[in-house]
Amino acid sequence: MKVELKNLTKIFPSRNKKAGGEVVAVNDFTYVIPDGKLVGLLGPSGCGKSTTLYMISGLQQPTGGSIFFGDEDVTHLSAENRGIGLVFQNYALYPHLTVQQNILFPLQNLRGKDRMTKQAMLDRALEVAKLVQIDNLMDRKPNELSGGQQQRVAIARALVKMPRVLLLDEPLSNLDARLRLQTREEIRRIQKETGITTVFVTHDQEEAMSISDEIVVMKLGVVQQVGKPQEIYDNPVNLFVAKFLGTPPINVFNGKVEGGKLYIGAECVLTVKGVEDQEVTVAIRPEGFNLEENGPFTCQLSNVEVMGRDVSVVSKNDAADSPVIRSIVDADNKIDVSKAEVKFSLKPHKVFLFNKETEERIYFEV
Ligand code: ADP
Ligand code: MG
Repeated sequence: MKVELKNLTKIFPSRNKKAGGEVVAVNDFTYVIPDGKLVGLLGPSGCGKSTTLYMISGLQQPTGGSIFFGDEDVTHLSAENRGIGLVFQNYALYPHLTVQQNILFPLQNLRGKDRMTKQAMLDRALEVAKLVQIDNLMDRKPNELSGGQQQRVAIARALVKMPRVLLLDEPLSNLDARLRLQTREEIRRIQKETGITTVFVTHDQEEAMSISDEIVVMKLGVVQQVGKPQEIYDNPVNLFVAKFLGTPPINVFNGKVEGGKLYIGAECVLTVKGVEDQEVTVAIRPEGFNLEENGPFTCQLSNVEVMGRDVSVVSKNDAADSPVIRSIVDADNKIDVSKAEVKFSLKPHKVFLFNKETEERIYFEV
């Protein structure tokens, strides 16, 4: 089921009339969630992810714009009638019901033509329990399950009515690191097996990158960029997106373009054709540095961390906007840690320039 958001907007009135200031939680969000895909809604806390999800679900009404499921305008349809499955961060299972009863619950409330026989309900519950691999836990109560198992029950419960759209709001946030990894792979598998159009909300860029067909990056209620994870990583449209994606984070410097050359400090570090002379913000991915004895970019060496295949070189530079610069180089590189300085050349496609004021990308030719 394709889901279309048209100029979707949500303004919350001010709670305190004197202090004033309404909150524009979601601002003019237009986007088509492709049929059968998993879309990651990514951004820092408070950027409007949950509000967007609740409007798609019908739990909240937009103040502007509309929502289509396929060709059907669902903007004013109640949540029960939209055919959605919702999973929250806190699993919100019924503690006094068994796993099986929790999964059955949404089916038992079906009325009219949707009503199912007892056997049909049991069959369906077992089918989704198998899908999320908890069919051996059907008689347990939620407090007899691990966090990961509880979240699977919540997912099974969301899937049991065969929703048209599956909506997940930070579903992995309460799990420990290992379970988070495992459960996100599970969610991906389930989504692919069922082909249900899915929106996955997270503030964790790595999670969004690893699981999504497409990512929507949001900031302060406004969509910043939409695209495949790798496309956004390789081609951020502004400084916010460049900084939000990637671990270790991108390295940011004050720089200057003069006569088609990029300077950081006094050093000319790269040729950048087609850019007018100006001060710029320079952002360099950690993998954008080559160690090179006579490289043009000099930094003060602080530390070298060996991480198996790769080596992380930690250094400093006065033009950097953070206390340390992190560059990742191949472990085959021999680095003399007793030296005070380290010299780099830069990989041009890993270097991004941004306007100092607007923070929008400035494109250059090599
Ligand atoms: P996210 O899920 O990305 O963390 P939310 O969608 O929950 O962000 O919130 C977006 C903005 O809307 C925030 O500034 C938040 O404080 C505000 N907000 C959310 N819900 C309400 C509400 N019911 N009343 C007033 N403001 C709200
Ligand atoms: Mg939220």
